[in-house]
Amino acid sequence: MDQKFIRNFSIIAHIDHGKSTLADRLIEFTGALDKRLMKDQVLDKMEIERERGITIKAQTVRLYYDADDGNRYQLNLIDTPGHVDFTYEVSRSLAACEGALLVVDASQGVEAQTIANVYLALDNDLELIPVLNKIDLPGADPEKVKEEIEEVIGLDASEAILASAKEGTGTKEILEAIVNKIPPPKGDLNKPLKAMVFDSWYDSYQGVVTLVRVIDGKIKKGDKIIFMSSKKEYEVGRVGVFTPLSTDVDELSAGEVGFIIAGIKELKDVNIGDTITHPDKPTDKPFPGFKKVKPVVFCGIYPVDTKDYDDLRDALEKLSLNDSSITFEPETSAALGFGFRCGFLGLLHMEIVQERLEREFDLNLITTAPTVIYRVKKKNGEMLEIDNPASLPPIGDIEEIEEPFIKATIIVPSEYLGGVLQLLQDKRGVQKNFNYISEQRVILEYEIPLAEVVIDFYDKLKSRTKGYASFDYEFSGYKPSELVKLDILINKEPVDALSIIVHKDNAYYKGRELVDKLKELIPRQMFDVAIQAAIGNKIVARSTVKAYRKNVTAKCYGGDITRKKKLLEKQKEGKKRMKQIGKVDVPQEAFLAVLKLG
Ligand code: GDP
Ligand code: MG
Repeated sequence: MDQKFIRNFSIIAHIDHGKSTLADRLIEFTGALDKRLMKDQVLDKMEIERERGITIKAQTVRLYYDADDGNRYQLNLIDTPGHVDFTYEVSRSLAACEGALLVVDASQGVEAQTIANVYLALDNDLELIPVLNKIDLPGADPEKVKEEIEEVIGLDASEAILASAKEGTGTKEILEAIVNKIPPPKGDLNKPLKAMVFDSWYDSYQGVVTLVRVIDGKIKKGDKIIFMSSKKEYEVGRVGVFTPLSTDVDELSAGEVGFIIAGIKELKDVNIGDTITHPDKPTDKPFPGFKKVKPVVFCGIYPVDTKDYDDLRDALEKLSLNDSSITFEPETSAALGFGFRCGFLGLLHMEIVQERLEREFDLNLITTAPTVIYRVKKKNGEMLEIDNPASLPPIGDIEEIEEPFIKATIIVPSEYLGGVLQLLQDKRGVQKNFNYISEQRVILEYEIPLAEVVIDFYDKLKSRTKGYASFDYEFSGYKPSELVKLDILINKEPVDALSIIVHKDNAYYKGRELVDKLKELIPRQMFDVAIQAAIGNKIVARSTVKAYRKNVTAKCYGGDITRKKKLLEKQKEGKKRMKQIGKVDVPQEAFLAVLKLG
């Protein structure tokens, strides 16, 4: 299609502000799906897709819109992942567009992810169209939210579109704005092929499906192609678009967006952000800014039962077919035996993977507390990157330790400000900015060690603000910190899987808290269990779990039989997740005790 009539755009929004609902309205309005399919939505669509042997990636769709100017436009709506862990993917999806709808809930206002997404969009030179959604709600205050957009984001909101994605208000105005405000692509059809990979996934029938934005030239079935970063070559087997059903097309040309299937077996052979070209007539310049994503949060994952080790490895291999950003390497722990050190893009990503391992693969696992990568400079000049506290060299050998920091943006209603400022201080945060967005809300910018954020920051932020604070972050780099390793000893034996790295100033206090928490979590046994926290050779806190004397049900004072039963069942349940450390039964929760402090 003539690029004049193509518009590539994304919808960016804070979670729950209405991105998916608005996408549904746009699909419906342009008649891409007939009413019957539209009503039954995703599941039905998936069913149809399965028959065709290809999975659908929700909301990356090609729509045709007959605009008021009498022309028919090809609109490509490009979906972006919704979470901060996947910032790089979001940024690549945005790089495939010329513009974006900036959706803000008119009853909530600008939130942290609104701002983070706007920055990514501006980095990619996108034209932004503000849309104030949910104007049907009684609490909607579009004028105030317009002011917030101008104040906080610095974007002219005078022409913001008032919409209700729920009721369909404003849909046509939005489509007209897409056509009139977002610039068309400016590629060159006659130049060698240059296409950017912005998404890919594994389909069990088709192998790897790759979404591309063609910058210059064209790509069609039968073409030999090369991925410029990995240098891997393939032959294109299918080219198509989602309408939202997958539909084969003859070719994708400059400015267009679609999928290719090229006999690629493994997801890890396709890098997001990579450039595809023709090996015999290559583009001289790959798409700029390619970077390989690296995990930033790590934890140990161990089977409770040693004989499940092979199943765990198989499960991790299967999961990484669909998610090439997971890394895993065999690891041995004196306490936990054989397992894996796994790397993730962020906390949410880690939680999703852990949950899938347990739910989909029915594995009984022990996971250790999340850590970041520390850079350790030894006195002998050697540099180490440490993703497991247990592998930190002895204090005496260390010259300096550097840890990763983030720049956090937090928006909080002023009534909760006190609690949030305290939390940020507890987390070693340094204030960089403090501004009132309106009389009721404050935007904060802090620099915080990532290690403090991977440990229960988000949960605490939510509980201290009744869920009303929003949070987003980006990396700001490595800096030296005074860090020490805190070891935990159970009955005098150090338990490597319980070691954590903490700031020197908090070490005593953290040691005390951790020992107390472990005392709560480790059940009584036939003998006393001594729990100690140590820094180097120095014990900084101790506590004892006393041996039990009587039957546990004695606690119930005879009475309620169902309660007794429940208690016994709970114990049995707990038993499944026990790991024997020496002679002591230690429950899974103990290995995550550090997440539950304070
Ligand atoms: P997303 O997280 O940005 O994709 O948000 P969703 O599209 O899933 O919407 C979040 C919630 O807001 C859902 O319960 C929607 O039904 C609701 N919602 C979306 N748009 C509107 C709207 O215009 N008005 C009202 N009242 N609710 C809406
Ligand atoms: Mg959504």
